[in-house]
Amino acid sequence: MNVLMVASECARLAKTGGLADVVGALPAALAPLGIKCRTVLPAYASLQPLVGKGRQVASFGDLPGGPGRLVQVTAHGIDLLLLDAPQLFDRPGQPYTSPKGNDWPDNHLRFGALAQAAARIGLDGLGGWKPDVVHAHDWQAALVPVYLKQADRPAPKSVLTIHNIAFQGRFGGQVLGELGLRADWFHPDGLEYFGDLGFLKGGLVFADRVTTVSPTYAREILTPKFGMGLEGVLQARGAALSGILNGIDTNAWNPAADPALARGFDARSPGRKAQSRPAVAARLGLDPDHCGPLFCVISRLTHQKGLDALADTIPQLVAGGGQLAVLGTGEPELEAAFVDAAAEYPGKVGTLIGYDEGFAHLMQGGSDAIVIPSRFEPCGLTQLYGLRYGTLPVVARTGGLADTVIDANAAATATGCATGFVFDDVSPAGIAAVLDRVFNAYGNRKQWQAMQRAAMRQPVGWQQSAQAYARLYQALAG
Ligand code: ADP
Repeated sequence: MNVLMVASECARLAKTGGLADVVGALPAALAPLGIKCRTVLPAYASLQPLVGKGRQVASFGDLPGGPGRLVQVTAHGIDLLLLDAPQLFDRPGQPYTSPKGNDWPDNHLRFGALAQAAARIGLDGLGGWKPDVVHAHDWQAALVPVYLKQADRPAPKSVLTIHNIAFQGRFGGQVLGELGLRADWFHPDGLEYFGDLGFLKGGLVFADRVTTVSPTYAREILTPKFGMGLEGVLQARGAALSGILNGIDTNAWNPAADPALARGFDARSPGRKAQSRPAVAARLGLDPDHCGPLFCVISRLTHQKGLDALADTIPQLVAGGGQLAVLGTGEPELEAAFVDAAAEYPGKVGTLIGYDEGFAHLMQGGSDAIVIPSRFEPCGLTQLYGLRYGTLPVVARTGGLADTVIDANAAATATGCATGFVFDDVSPAGIAAVLDRVFNAYGNRKQWQAMQRAAMRQPVGWQQSAQAYARLYQALAG
């Protein structure tokens, strides 16, 4: 079985969030199941050295936004097809934004080109290789199913995965022609989204199957509260929509052999986590002799993540005897709130504004709990890293957080299956209440360590989810 992955991010190559982790991990997880993946990815400026090492396997004279070619190269074990279209992708900045942080004005052309190049491989194959299924990820690749259907000839089946429905790729309807899309499909049951062209909307209508990254999020996005305007489209897809949980790369995130940690540990030795704590404290200016729980946040600092409510709960967190370590970047007001908190509570709150993968590992290694008070969370990865590192997740009951953390209620604690703390009310009062429960549990060392062991033994790798994707592909491809 051959699968063509299409995405705008891939771990270790181009990343702004969890999408990259999934796209980077799935091919290796699917390989033992007999599924061979190739991944189409834009050749961003940072990937030009890789382009130089590859081999041209296709060229297109007339993609949206001009010509482009596909360059095949293997990196980090992933069989890549880099879409080299320098006029679209060889620029400074992030995948979607200029160095000033603004969306590139031609994003519709950039990701229209990505989708069209991928659809052509789906339709025509590549040097004798043909995909049985094309798997598109998020709005940037969501036009792939549209182009496949529009070709009106035998085509592979398509899967579209929603990693976060908040990002929809919405552009003025006038770009339809530039993208070579059918004008007669521009209506509310097709590509139109409240008068505009919706990339994700179109993909949701035309994909053979739609998945998202947790079963709870798959249910949530059918409702107005979480569907962000697309709930009706999703309801209409009925059984074509399902949720498959993300896994994590358990080699990259292995507390027994993580070079970022002062000392490795496993489920039999969670006490060794304490040896990484001084390095966390030193980097963030936290009091190294503090003996209460160390909470951490490793996150985009955004409203979605509920961190405004956490910032307002810092007085209670500190008064209860906790310390807080924050690593993140995002909305300026939130960055300022955590920087100010570090100044107000020296030694108790430490904030690092920035993106630092190595330090994220160290924080997971040295902290006691990770707080994730998201208002919505399609899957979430940091709670999975937390489980693996015995850093008990304190999470809002939403999306993948609800699906992966077992709350320390009386029954779960008695049976030894609790792995964290789940709460409903994302507000300062709700967070203060769950923090009280964390402080109580932390005070009972036996119970805390039992939870750490249960957390660390929970399977969080890709094995189960890869099997679910394999079943989906097989059902589609017959
Ligand atoms: P989202 O995709 O919504 O940002 P996820 O929890 O699914 O949230 O994935 C976030 C990923 O980005 C995780 O791998 C997390 O460790 C990483 N991450 C987020 N912020 C930072 C940061 N400031 N430094 C290092 N890693 C970060």
